[in-house]
Amino acid sequence: MVTNDPRSGDGSELGLVNDAAVVVERNRVVWTGRSTLAPAADTSHDVGGRAVIPGFVDSHSHLVFAGDRSQEFAARMTGAPYSAGGINTTVAATRAATDEQLAANLARLVAEMRRQGTTTVEIKSGYGLTVADEARGLAIARQATSETTFLGAHVVPPEYADDPGGYVDLVTGPMLDACAGYAKWVDVFCERGAFDADQSRAILRAGQARGLRPRLHANQLGHGPGVQLACEVGALAVDHCTYLSDEDVAALADSGTIATLLPGVEFSTRSPYPDGRGLLDAGIRLALASDCNPGSCFTSSMPFCIALAVREMGMSPAEALWAATAGGGAALGRDDVGHLAPGAAADLVVLDAPSYIHLAYRPGVPLVASTLVGGAG
Ligand SMILES: [Zn+2]
Repeated sequence: MVTNDPRSGDGSELGLVNDAAVVVERNRVVWTGRSTLAPAADTSHDVGGRAVIPGFVDSHSHLVFAGDRSQEFAARMTGAPYSAGGINTTVAATRAATDEQLAANLARLVAEMRRQGTTTVEIKSGYGLTVADEARGLAIARQATSETTFLGAHVVPPEYADDPGGYVDLVTGPMLDACAGYAKWVDVFCERGAFDADQSRAILRAGQARGLRPRLHANQLGHGPGVQLACEVGALAVDHCTYLSDEDVAALADSGTIATLLPGVEFSTRSPYPDGRGLLDAGIRLALASDCNPGSCFTSSMPFCIALAVREMGMSPAEALWAATAGGGAALGRDDVGHLAPGAAADLVVLDAPSYIHLAYRPGVPLVASTLVGGAG
């Protein structure tokens, strides 16, 4: 069993316990350790030597959308580059969809994640880009998770193509007013073709003034100011981090900001992977997340992201699992998920495998045997 509690088991970061048991009371973990030492319980369940891990914490996804961009993916795989503007394809389809269609699509994707072991998911708006469409997207996301993020600044929509400043005014004014009540976080796509450093700073600061906590899409498509801006505004996590300068790495190390790596994006856009090994060696904490979205990466699978992190980013299976569980929890400022220490949410996954290592060792194989969320299956 992986507890991610270094006080448990072998004393490693993963807190590995062999021949383990976990005791759950109501929706919380109350005890972990060797099964021979387990306190009496009303009911018990033997998982037959299978590995148990904390549920995955997917700290970055975009599940409120309609439409399909499989043709764009096919074009990309035959040579077309990825650009931020493709988002507008999904914006048009999302605006045209009914609330019921958006909610059903989101529920289907959350269920798909659950089957693959994800027990906590962050969900962003960002495919509405009008006051009403962003607010309804967040209201729908709120039904599935408390980790909702206002991403009105995903891209400048076509109707503001000649007036990006006017769009920033909309995002920081009426749109933020309509959305703040449904969101915990504020996010910006700080990238060439989307929002520059000054625009991004203004949006993050406006969100912070309304009680939202900042996070940022940064340095995905090239070098840029996003990572340092995230550190400047005190973001808990900055996401993508594919193209980093030495100054960016130093800023992350100094600020303690978590780098959330999204290797499914590099896989799905055929791009170079972020340097997970280098960041770990620089002392930076990492999270792994899916970035599940219809354009740049339509996987909902955290096991797949773990396999990519191990194969392509120089991370060990242990480092990748930690990043996909405890790292995600830290990136969301949650001390109750991503680990199985006493007091944690009873969110756990039983693998059809004897060890968590199989998540990377057996890529593409559905290894999740069962999942508990808050102690319930
Ligand atoms: Zn994203």
